Amino acid sequence: MGEKTRLYMEDWLYNSGLVGFYNVLKHAENDVVIKQNYIEFESDALVGFEKKYFNYFIDKYKDTLSLNKIISFEKFILHHEENNFENFNEKSLEFTNKYISDVAKKQIKSNSYKSAYELIESPVDILGLEKNLKTINLKKKQEIRDILPEIKDIFDLMKQVIKYMKLEESRKYIGAKNAMYSVIKNGWNGVCFLNPQTKEKDMYIDYKCYFIDPTIEYLNTDKSKFKYSCFSCNRKMKDFSNDLSFLNSTGFDVSRKSSHVWDFQNDIAVCPICKLVYSCVPAGISYLYDKGIYINDNSSMRNAIAINNKIHMGIYRQKDEDKKLTYKALVESINEEYNDKIKYELADIQLVRYEDGKYRFNILSKNSLKVIKDSEDDLNKLINCGFKEINTYFNVYELVIDRLLNSQNMFTLIQKMLHYKLSQPRDSYYHTFHITRILRINIRFLKGVGCMKGVYKDIVKEGNDAGEKLREKYRSKGSVDKLSGISYRLLNSLKTNNVDSFMDTLLNCYMYVKSSVPEIFLDTLKDEDKFKTIGYAFVAGLIEGRKENNTDNENGGKDNE
Ligand SMILES: [Zn+2]
Repeated sequence: MGEKTRLYMEDWLYNSGLVGFYNVLKHAENDVVIKQNYIEFESDALVGFEKKYFNYFIDKYKDTLSLNKIISFEKFILHHEENNFENFNEKSLEFTNKYISDVAKKQIKSNSYKSAYELIESPVDILGLEKNLKTINLKKKQEIRDILPEIKDIFDLMKQVIKYMKLEESRKYIGAKNAMYSVIKNGWNGVCFLNPQTKEKDMYIDYKCYFIDPTIEYLNTDKSKFKYSCFSCNRKMKDFSNDLSFLNSTGFDVSRKSSHVWDFQNDIAVCPICKLVYSCVPAGISYLYDKGIYINDNSSMRNAIAINNKIHMGIYRQKDEDKKLTYKALVESINEEYNDKIKYELADIQLVRYEDGKYRFNILSKNSLKVIKDSEDDLNKLINCGFKEINTYFNVYELVIDRLLNSQNMFTLIQKMLHYKLSQPRDSYYHTFHITRILRINIRFLKGVGCMKGVYKDIVKEGNDAGEKLREKYRSKGSVDKLSGISYRLLNSLKTNNVDSFMDTLLNCYMYVKSSVPEIFLDTLKDEDKFKTIGYAFVAGLIEGRKENNTDNENGGKDNE
């Protein structure tokens, strides 16, 4: 022991494992050396690694673990006890009942909790407590004070439950069970403590035997006679016994193949060290429930660790308020981390997302990062904007970021939003000035990819103003009703990129109000992107006009005309 081992950066999955391995050791206050493209640790760090491993997850995902949800009720109990239940009202009762049925009872008798009790040394009959735990109903003509004795009894029961859940052993075993099923299994599954048929009930021992002991043994073995090489690190290894099929949806499902090809010798096998690194993938990826994000910044080990830890903190900070905004933490972290670097030699960075049990990949191109950075203000105004499509709610902020990450322009999104503003205003939670913000983001994007050359004036504003002015003229003629039909027609021309029909409609409109067509429309004839930008800005002005008392500093739109 005491020997130093280096682990070099490889592909994104291995790197996420390295970041995770580093995180686990760092959290346990072990020394890990970080160099340009590798980390180095001393073999002593592997002693008790199984505890460090679970501690990392139990601490880092503290608030999302059901164990802590059970414990969190203590504050509520203490509050009411201190105040002698004076402000305990029907709402409090409702909250208590919901907690008892949806959190406490549900978790206490779940299989994963039951299997943890076997490992916890305590005389408390926790399942017996659960049986006595009941919701309390307020009968007709009853008042809260009539049922206070019952509430107090239930609170006493809950205090016993919480006392049990706060035991060091409960944290250790129930916390580990929570971590296994809510975090770790997003990264790997089917082996060791996540093998439903595992014989070892204690997940710590299971992890130690399956991942750590073979690693220590391997480090202490003379490897000079080994014939094979590790797929990941190229170290010599004895045989092909460690494949990567335990990792989720990576395409390395070797076990299935080898079952019907009898002499199949898979060449995707790794040494025990790398297998241990891969077991740390869930500590490298940041998860919010069953979704995960990892940024494969392979410019240096230090950057990879820094950006992913920022992401984790960002997600953790916003955990409750913005569950839908999976990208928000990402964007904030990107802005923080790459603020200065964007100006320099930043290479494209791979973004990996884990969703619906699969990995999805995007490239954070220099252009996308720059647009995100330069559009901070515009993007922040979109956070509360959204629309309903059939029964699903879509957040506009997320949709815009998604497009930027996929290097797509915003035109089809804008088309859809304007269309919905006309056809289903009640389910469109935004104003048209939010759409002009998206148009501005889009211009930055288009310029970044070499389009929209020579656009110096604010064509979004000019187009939008023209729309608003025309709307005013229609209003003064008492013909504002005609505008929605006209808007549909214009949107259709924009969608099919038909400049002629767009101009036809436009000429008719201006003839009707006896005005000349504004000069800005001459620009639309020059290229498609300008045509669409000015056209959509114009329709946005036409649909909504200048709203009274509305500055576009407003975030999101609730009142829909
Ligand atoms: Zn290896």
